[in-house]
Amino acid sequence: MLIRSIGARLTIWYTSLLTLTFLILGGTAYGLLAYSLSRDMDTALNGVAQVLAQRALVEGSAVVPSDIDDLFRRFFGFSPLERHIEMFDPLGRRDPRQPPSRSSQLPLSPEALKNASQGLPTFETVASTGPYPARVLTMPVMRAGRVINLVQVGMSLDNMYKTRRRFLLIMAAVLPFGLLLAGGGGWLLARRALKPVDRMTQAARRISGEHLDERLQETGSGDELDRLAKTLNDMLGRLDDAFHQMRQFSADASHELQTPLTILKGEMEVALRSPRSSEEYQRVLKSGLEEIDRINHLVEGLLLLARADAGVLRLDLRLVELKELLQEICEQMKVVADDHSISLNLNVLETVSVQGDREHLRRLLLNLVDNAIKYTPEGGSVTLSLQSEKDWVSLRISDTGIGLSKDEQKLIFSRFHRATETRSRDAKGVGLGLSIACSIAEAHGGRIQVESTPGQGSTFTVLLPQTQA
Ligand code: ADP
Repeated sequence: MLIRSIGARLTIWYTSLLTLTFLILGGTAYGLLAYSLSRDMDTALNGVAQVLAQRALVEGSAVVPSDIDDLFRRFFGFSPLERHIEMFDPLGRRDPRQPPSRSSQLPLSPEALKNASQGLPTFETVASTGPYPARVLTMPVMRAGRVINLVQVGMSLDNMYKTRRRFLLIMAAVLPFGLLLAGGGGWLLARRALKPVDRMTQAARRISGEHLDERLQETGSGDELDRLAKTLNDMLGRLDDAFHQMRQFSADASHELQTPLTILKGEMEVALRSPRSSEEYQRVLKSGLEEIDRINHLVEGLLLLARADAGVLRLDLRLVELKELLQEICEQMKVVADDHSISLNLNVLETVSVQGDREHLRRLLLNLVDNAIKYTPEGGSVTLSLQSEKDWVSLRISDTGIGLSKDEQKLIFSRFHRATETRSRDAKGVGLGLSIACSIAEAHGGRIQVESTPGQGSTFTVLLPQTQA
């Protein structure tokens, strides 16, 4: 059966372990108790037998002494009712002079007789007439290496058995009670400790895509659950940001697509309102084509970003000669730079090749050079340079343009972001150029860095990994 509650599982584990510990401890204690009880009894029996043997040695023959009760009391601490004292001659015959035993007589086993003839004592547990067996010690009395008598001291094991049984009864009574107490206590503690988890589950259920600003309650105790709540809250924060960016991106993309479409529709409607000359139709169609180009450019950019995000941007990897690529771009952009009276310089000394997709790298560099020209006032300059370093190839596009503040430098790579300064200048663009450049650089295992001083100009550096020989 699958138990779904951690509290219940913990309690079961805890109680099982506790039961096992109790059983092991109880078993060990019981063993030690039984061992020490029987050792104490043997020691006491030995004590009594020694005294009797000593007296038999002094008096010449063995007789059960009259102070036998005192003797037992001395060694056992009490004088038991069920006790046996017997004296035998070396052949194992009962001494006729001794008074009849207070309890039944015990037989002298052949084994004990044999040991005694060799001068050795024998401890035996034998059945008695009572409900419990008896413990018997047979000890030889020796004089000049000869056995002159045998002393037999015995006692019923009823006291020992009763003590052992009492111990077991106490254990059997205490164990379930202790387990119940410990198990119940453990369950209450587990429930108390896991209560915040329930609260977190309920709070987490309330949080959805529409309510990502809600947070789990943090207790501030710094324990595991508090740390979990903090981690989940951090994660929710990141999700919230991602959702926000996604919504912003969709809104911006729709807006950027809507503008050219509205212009296109407006121009066509106006053109259709009354008959026009063929020149006028041509002008409207040309303007319409420009808007379609804008839409096309935008959709291409969005598609590239979507593919890069999904990790499926396909790169046609070949060895690309960068000096040649930069020269080509310079030639292409020269007309635009001239239009803005900006000098476009190429400062390349070495021939360097990297493994890359030529078309994508071309698009990346065109975006950067286009920006550099766009954001540089008339009379300024834009310089392209190429440098090969240890692990990287760096392509630098420097301009003497309007520059960027430190805050703006952090934001310009975000999609659809355009610096305030730029927007007020009414430069054309939608704010996707740098995001696309960045995605292309990253797809090649590289990155883009920016250094800029407002009013003095900016340098964008594209770092691409060196191609291994
Ligand atoms: P945009 O279409 O607006 O040029 P980009 O993603 O290419 O979009 O650039 C984002 C913003 O970064 C621009 O709007 C501009 O504010 C800033 N920027 C980019 N390149 C430069 C540059 N060379 N000098 C100053 N600002 C720049």
